[in-house]
Amino acid sequence: MRMPEVNGRWVADMKAPRTADNEEPAEERAHDFRPVDKGFTEEMAIAEAARCMRCKKPLCVEGCPVNIDIPSFIEKIYERKFGEGLDVIHEQSMLPAICGRVCPQENQCEGVCIRGRRGEPVAIGQLERFLGDQPELASTPEMAPRNGKRVAVIGSGPSGITCAGELARNGFDVTVYESFFTGGGVLVYGIPEFRLPKAVVKHEIDGLRELGVTFEYNSVMGNLADAEELLGEKGFDALYVATGAGLPKFLNIPGENLPNVYFANEYLTRVNLMRANEFPKFDTPTKHGRQVIVFGGGNVAMDAVRTAKRLGADRAIIAYRRTEAEMPARKAELHHAKAEGVEVMPLVSPLEFLKGEDGNVCGVRVQRMELGEPDDSGRRRPVPIEGAIEEISCDVAISAIGTNANPFARKIGGMELNKWGYIVANEETGRTSNPRIWAGGDIVTGAATVILAMGAGKKAAADMTKVLLGQ
Ligand code: FAD
Ligand code: SF4
Repeated sequence: MRMPEVNGRWVADMKAPRTADNEEPAEERAHDFRPVDKGFTEEMAIAEAARCMRCKKPLCVEGCPVNIDIPSFIEKIYERKFGEGLDVIHEQSMLPAICGRVCPQENQCEGVCIRGRRGEPVAIGQLERFLGDQPELASTPEMAPRNGKRVAVIGSGPSGITCAGELARNGFDVTVYESFFTGGGVLVYGIPEFRLPKAVVKHEIDGLRELGVTFEYNSVMGNLADAEELLGEKGFDALYVATGAGLPKFLNIPGENLPNVYFANEYLTRVNLMRANEFPKFDTPTKHGRQVIVFGGGNVAMDAVRTAKRLGADRAIIAYRRTEAEMPARKAELHHAKAEGVEVMPLVSPLEFLKGEDGNVCGVRVQRMELGEPDDSGRRRPVPIEGAIEEISCDVAISAIGTNANPFARKIGGMELNKWGYIVANEETGRTSNPRIWAGGDIVTGAATVILAMGAGKKAAADMTKVLLGQ
């Protein structure tokens, strides 16, 4: 490895190839839930840091949705000042161990990294994760004195927990209400252990408890109390609503209600949260299919099909109505899935789930498609090929074609919703139509990403602090 610094000037190691990911062998990891990627060692991180050019105009920072000062934390890694590097990230993001693992870096910071123009971009996500996995090195955050104001946060996904942490540091008394029996939102019920270990999320939640945040689990707001009660008799000064967009979209085709046809979020929740993979030790069962077909092309579909593979599927298919090139899933996840033996079936759309003699799903009738003219999204529209209909046998079918707004936003009430049930909120401040309610994350934007949900929580906490303290 060459020294990046020559005569006090940073000189990147332009010859070094991108440091390869530290992955478990695909044929072994495909049978259990161990993390696929072990992360960089110190040597790997320093070698990768040396590849960064410390650009005068770092496009990576512009590409990051929360504008983390990427070259600065990379330089700190090179200097082995890991705690200081973590402090740089913490100025913009409190969840580097999570975002380093799940952010779609290829469309963000790494997608615009200058090194990517003539080769491979710097492995920014891996470097972020490397620091995020050493939280004990960070400086202790400054805590403002208690200000006597109380805020209720509804939902403990990345948006809710970020907002709660920022508010607690700013001196507020914060209670997080969560409908599940544990915190983390999609980070624990959706994203599987092999991509994001539960222990990483638990560490963040434990950290918030240490800051004085109270968590009230099994508390479905809208049922237990609505906005009026929370801001009235319960005595909160303000609310942050971050209930997510977890309501599944229906395919609306015959047979969708057959046994062993699942929505991806339900299937993943059964395994990730209710530990259906360990049935009967845990109470929740799920069908361990031998031939599993998943409809969709995003991260959710990818998580579902890789989970099915780990539950013992001999044939695990990801069926998508466009081609692999248009799949919205992270490229790394598609690559991992294929390495683990997942079969990609492009250009098919489901028409009907078929019922077997035992009453369960036994197959699916699909329509073969071809790509036509581009649609509003700029992607070529899939159009049916006349007469090209076939049957594929399966004993589990999973639909992962997207989600809608969580309907509880309506029951919580007190703020304007749009016609699809999403909360109308200012994207810069999180302010809603009610001056005492802020909102952010997927329940405002629609299904998006962890980093955007986190960023919304951070911005809202800053605005709430200003407004509630009259600054
Ligand atoms: P959520 O994470 O959905 O959290 C909302 C929380 O609110 C939940 O815990 C819910 O139980 C709770 N809640 C809802 N209603 C109530 C109520 N009435 N009372 C109390 N609590 C309530 N993004 C990425 O960036 N990278 C990825 O790799 C990625 N993979 C994904 C994989 C899956 C399977 C899924 C489903 C999503 C994935 N996403 C990914 C998207 C990302 O996880 C979401 O954009 C993000 O979690 C949204 O955060 P949030 O805080 O707005 O909502
Ligand atoms: Fe380093 Fe790439 Fe950012 Fe330039 S764009 S500073 S090379 S990470």
